[in-house]
Amino acid sequence: MNILSVSNLSKVYQSGSRKLTVLDEVNFDIKAGEIISIVGPSGSGKTTLLGLCAGLDSASTGKVSLNGANLQTMNEDERAAVRNQNVGFIFQNFQLLPTLTALENVMVPLELKKRKDARAKAQELLEKVGLGNRGTHYPTQLSGGEQQRVSIARAFANEPKILFADEPTGNLDTETGEMIEKLIFDLNKEQGTTLVLVTHDLELAAKTQRIIHIKGGKIQEGEHA
Ligand code: ADP
Repeated sequence: MNILSVSNLSKVYQSGSRKLTVLDEVNFDIKAGEIISIVGPSGSGKTTLLGLCAGLDSASTGKVSLNGANLQTMNEDERAAVRNQNVGFIFQNFQLLPTLTALENVMVPLELKKRKDARAKAQELLEKVGLGNRGTHYPTQLSGGEQQRVSIARAFANEPKILFADEPTGNLDTETGEMIEKLIFDLNKEQGTTLVLVTHDLELAAKTQRIIHIKGGKIQEGEHA
């Protein structure tokens, strides 16, 4: 079964009278449980593509079907509902809420799901990423690697069917990057979560089952041995 199906997807940004085609008729499918990486030069449209697939933004033309939901015909509220049901997202710059503690950041998706055990579950997830003793810290009181682990705990809190990660190890030292990588791959092993990783790191890409190459907003798909 395809958890994600992208057909003839294009994104055009308008700046003044100039049009910039960032994605140009992109097509690919991802099966439930697959581990995929998206690689390509800076500015090739990777982040834009990930945002469209995750329902964070809407396309100019074409279709994204996420776990059977056609995101293209939905408004922002409807897309948010599909995201809450299906998606975890890890950003390169962590994007934690600065006014909330680590624990409260992880609680956000759990509270959206109206889980009564939100606090206990968030604590359990912080422990899973090795930050059980950092719950009361605010993001500015944490290192980059710790912030990324909090953002992973937050993504895990959604029990996502599909996890999108945009350069999840990009801003981290090698050792921390390896820890983050293991946490993400374990989610696939333990829960069968589909992983879609945007990365510059060709070693990381080589560990995925399939690499999607993107250049100038167009896709060339290649199987990885
Ligand atoms: P990548 O992730 O591969 O580096 P991006 O998807 O971030 O590429 O960006 C692709 C292109 O789209 C870049 O030229 C970038 O400047 C442009 N772009 C991204 N977001 C916007 C936006 N909101 N408005 C206008 N142009 C944008």
